Amino acid sequence: MAIDLEKYTELNKLCSDRGITLVAVSKTKPVEDILALYQAGQRDFGENYVQELVDKQALLPADIRWHFIGHLQSNKVKYIAPFVHLVHGVDSLRLLQEINKQAIKNNRVINCLLQVHIAREETKFGMDESELDQAIRSVLEHPENFSGVSICGLMGMASFSEDMNLVRSEFRYLKSLFDRHTQPQTSNISFHILSCGMSSDYHVALEEGSNLIRVGSLLFGTRS
Ligand SMILES: *Cc1c(COP(=O)(O)O)cnc(C)c1O
Repeated sequence: MAIDLEKYTELNKLCSDRGITLVAVSKTKPVEDILALYQAGQRDFGENYVQELVDKQALLPADIRWHFIGHLQSNKVKYIAPFVHLVHGVDSLRLLQEINKQAIKNNRVINCLLQVHIAREETKFGMDESELDQAIRSVLEHPENFSGVSICGLMGMASFSEDMNLVRSEFRYLKSLFDRHTQPQTSNISFHILSCGMSSDYHVALEEGSNLIRVGSLLFGTRS
């Protein structure tokens, strides 16, 4: 086990002092490691793969808030809909519609973040600015079609780069989009979560207004 409890204590304090949510990203890590962090007080965990999340959820305490942070395929929403706390990577209206449908089936309202493509790399998922505006407009125009989802804000991933000026500018751009959509608040749109920052760049993300960071390797050790 390569859990860094000292780092956890430090990060947890920094976050709780400032009202920031720390999501411990446990993908590829065994349930023993998750339990160790749970016993230290952590309750928010993030996973990227549906099957892995479903397997772990069944084995771990029920009061864990599970964040799905990976790319979610529409045909797999049904597996996590009964319990997921927040879906970070909603990058199409079609996916939002499917989450809505599965939420209603489960008698739930599922919290969602719209993912925006802010990085230079082509491979990262997410909406561009006009797709984001369009998605929000669709929900505003027909809230009755989205009663199973609550859109809580935005998620983004910066370029995989050591150039922190580039990373900073990408986070700043995401924050500007976030600020633009804090109004109007409706029955199912209420922007209050800005999810950005990981092990390598969370300090920059916090300076640029993030209020939820997703940290994996710094807490659990590097992934193979
Ligand atoms: C893996 C992952 C993280 C955590 O990455 P670390 O560099 O290990 O902190 C955060 N967000 C997403 C979307 C991820 O896929």
